[in-house]
Amino acid sequence: ELDVALQEQQLLLYYQVQVDARQRPIGAEVLMRWKHPQRGLVSPAEFIPLAEETGQIVAMGLWALRTACLQLKAWQQNALTRDLTLAVNVSAKQFRKADFVDQVRRVLLETGVRASLLKLELTESTVLLDVEDTIAKMRELKLMGLSFSMDDFGTGYSSLQYLKRLPLDQIKIDQSFVRDIASDPNDAAIVQTIIAMTQALGLNVIAEGVETPEQQEFLELRGCHNFQGYLFGRPMPPAEFEDTLKA
Ligand code: C2E
Ligand code: MG
Ligand code: MG
Repeated sequence: ELDVALQEQQLLLYYQVQVDARQRPIGAEVLMRWKHPQRGLVSPAEFIPLAEETGQIVAMGLWALRTACLQLKAWQQNALTRDLTLAVNVSAKQFRKADFVDQVRRVLLETGVRASLLKLELTESTVLLDVEDTIAKMRELKLMGLSFSMDDFGTGYSSLQYLKRLPLDQIKIDQSFVRDIASDPNDAAIVQTIIAMTQALGLNVIAEGVETPEQQEFLELRGCHNFQGYLFGRPMPPAEFEDTLKA
């Protein structure tokens, strides 16, 4: 069915805004959705693991990358959207492909998009599968102008040994730590430590899953100035996303 989904254009991209300390939009993360003819809108939590297993994620991920770049291209026409960045999730299987860097280069050439508008989100598991290969690919892509964010930070097998070697631009604090930040002293301590570490390493930090003003304030006071979460906007189709920018 996933093959059909790709061919019949049942896959969609939703856009979730990322904001700065003054709640101004700085970009969005693109999140895949599957508009299944019988089941309705299917969550990526259901089909991404399956697509990983079957290898279909490689084609699906390439589609997401291309679609995101076409959106960036279209946004260049409008002053309101011209400087927005897009963050695209990249799966382990996709990133591990020998021709991944070439695929990204081709998409950028085809669409004519400034590479600096594109951010790739990697996870700890992806990176750790082969650290040397990861570093080599990241360097090549960074030379082209792309940036990198470490998604779900702290939920996998974090190794500070690799963290200091990877040419990352940003660390994304996982929503599981953000959720109870105001009530759980352990989560608060972990988040505070992650922020301090990113500052020491000279990295940008963004928190995901921010749902309340209390969470935002906690993060803000401790030095995290970029946010993503329902407090600022849910993931939504591109037309709706553009409407919220105008409002
Ligand atoms: P992720 O990359 O960590 O994305 C963040 C998830 O948190 C998204 O779930 C988003 O809808 C959700 N979220 C955002 N704000 C809030 C909030 O304030 N509260 C709560 N409770 N949740 C929030 P979603 O869209 O269901 O995506 C789930 C996962 O599927 C993503 O996690 C990502 O790992 C994967 N995924 C989605 N799109 C793609 C894709 O194009 N390629 C790949 N490889 N993976 C994708
Ligand atoms: Mg992500
Ligand atoms: Mg995440």
